[in-house]
Amino acid sequence: MNIATNFPGPVRDRYAPSPTGLQHIGGIRTALFNYLFARSKGGKFILRLEDTDRTRFDTEFVKNLYDTFDWLGIRWDEGPNTGGPAGPYIQSERTSLYTQYAEELLEKGQAYRCFCSAARLEEVRKEREAAHSGESGYDRRCRDISPEESAQRAKGGEAFTIRLKIPLGENTRFHDYLLGDIEWKNDDINPDPVLLKSDGFPTYHLANVVDDHLMEISHILRAQEWLASTPLHVILYRAFGWDHPEFCHLPMVMGPDGKKLSKRHGATSIDEFRRQGYLPEALLNYVALLGCSWEEGKDLYTLGELEERFSLDKLNKAPGVFDYKKLEWYNGQYIRQKSDAELAALALPWAVGEGLFGAGAPGTEPDAEQRELFTAAMPLIKERLVLLSEVPQKLAYLFAEPPMPEAAEFFPKKADLSQTTALLKMGRALVEALAAMNDEEAENLIKAHAEKEGVKLGDLLMPLRVAITGARISPPLFGSLRLLGARRSLERVDRALAALG
Ligand code: GLU
Repeated sequence: MNIATNFPGPVRDRYAPSPTGLQHIGGIRTALFNYLFARSKGGKFILRLEDTDRTRFDTEFVKNLYDTFDWLGIRWDEGPNTGGPAGPYIQSERTSLYTQYAEELLEKGQAYRCFCSAARLEEVRKEREAAHSGESGYDRRCRDISPEESAQRAKGGEAFTIRLKIPLGENTRFHDYLLGDIEWKNDDINPDPVLLKSDGFPTYHLANVVDDHLMEISHILRAQEWLASTPLHVILYRAFGWDHPEFCHLPMVMGPDGKKLSKRHGATSIDEFRRQGYLPEALLNYVALLGCSWEEGKDLYTLGELEERFSLDKLNKAPGVFDYKKLEWYNGQYIRQKSDAELAALALPWAVGEGLFGAGAPGTEPDAEQRELFTAAMPLIKERLVLLSEVPQKLAYLFAEPPMPEAAEFFPKKADLSQTTALLKMGRALVEALAAMNDEEAENLIKAHAEKEGVKLGDLLMPLRVAITGARISPPLFGSLRLLGARRSLERVDRALAALG
C-alpha cells in the first residue's frame, strides 16, 4: 500500500519526546523507526522537544536525550542545535505561536474560554465520583458563554483556559496504517480538553498538532499509547481546516510476561544498558527488529542496511516482546566483530573504573605495559564475552595475583591431595615450554606428556589452570601462560605447591 496519500510530497517525520525522563527502549524505538522510515524514503527526520510540561521538565533529561542519540549514532536532519527551516524546534520557544493559533480557534467558534477555577474542577470531579456517575472530565459549563461575555470577562482580567469545542453527536474517523480504519464517538472523547493553559502554555494536544502542521510533518509514527489522543487531534486539524499527517501507531513493547515493558523486567533506560556494557550497534539492531518481520534467517543488520531496507510493511500488529537474552546474543555478535584494539578501547573504561590497573583502586589508568597486556588479552575472552562490564572480572588474574583457592579447588575429579600435587609438579615441568608456544604446539606437547605419564589430559590441566588463573573455570590456559610469561607462571605454580603443602 502506498502510505503517502494525503501527502504526496517528501516524507518528513519526527521524534517528539517530552524531556520528563531518561531515554528508554520505547522512546529510542519510536525515534529509530522514524529515522529509518525517513531514510528509506529519502525524507527528513526531525527532532522536536515537547517541553511544555514545565512541572516535569528537567535539563538533565535534555542532556540525556542528546547523549543517548550521540552514542547510538542517530542524527536528525532538523532539530534543536541542528536548526532547520521550521525552527525553533523546542516548544517552549514557540509559545506565542500556540497563543495565536488558540485565538484563531476562538474566533472560528471552534474553541472557548473556560473560567472555571482549579478548585471548581476538583469539586466537579469529587461530586461525580461520589455519585458514581461514570462521567469524567470537564462538565462543559463554560461552553455556552456568549462570545461577547467571554471577551468581556477576559478583558476584565479573569483567568481562563482555552478549551476545544468538540462537535457532539458526531463520529470521528481516521485511518491508521497498521490498525486500519478507526472510528470514535466524539461524545466519548475527553470532554472539551484544554488547549491553552491559564499560564499561557499550550497543552500537548495543541502544541503537537500546530507543530506537526507548521513543520510539514507527513507521517506520524508513534507509540500506540497515543492512539487515544488521535481522534482529538483529528478534530483539531479539521477545526483549523488542515489536512492531518498519515498515522501509524507502533505496536507496544512488552516484557516477557506480556505486560508493558518496565523496570520490573530489567533495564529499560538506555543509560543502564550502556553501563552494563552493551554496544550501540547491538541495541540498535535488536530494537529495529522488535515487533517487525525482517528477512528470514538474517539477524545482523548494519545501520546502513536498516536504512535501506526499512518499510512499514515489516511492522507487526502484535506487540513486540523484549527478550533480554536475545539482546545479549546481539551484543556478543557485535563484540566478536571488533578487533582486539577496538574491543580493548571499548572495555577500558570498565577496567579503569573497577581498578584493574591499580590493584583494585578505581580510576587508575594503565601504564604502557598494562595497556599492552590488556589488548593482548582480548583474544582470550572475546569468543564468550557478552557484556563489556564483565571484562575486568574476567581478566583480573592477569593483572594481580589471584587469591589462593582452597586446596580442594585444585583437585581433578576423583583425585586426592597427593595425586593433585604430583599432577601439578608434572605440569610445572612444562610451564616454561608452554609459555613459549602457540596454542596448537602447547596442546600437542601437553597431550603427549599426559600420554607418556599415563594420566588423563584433563587431570593434568586442572591443577595447573587453578594455579595460574585462580579458578577452575577461566579463560584459555595456554594463552594465559603466554601472557603471564614463564617466570610469573612458575611463581604462581610454586606458591600453589607451597599452599598445598
Ligand atoms: N511528546 C509526546 C511524547 O512524549 C509525543 C507523542 C507524539 O509523538 O505525538 O511521546
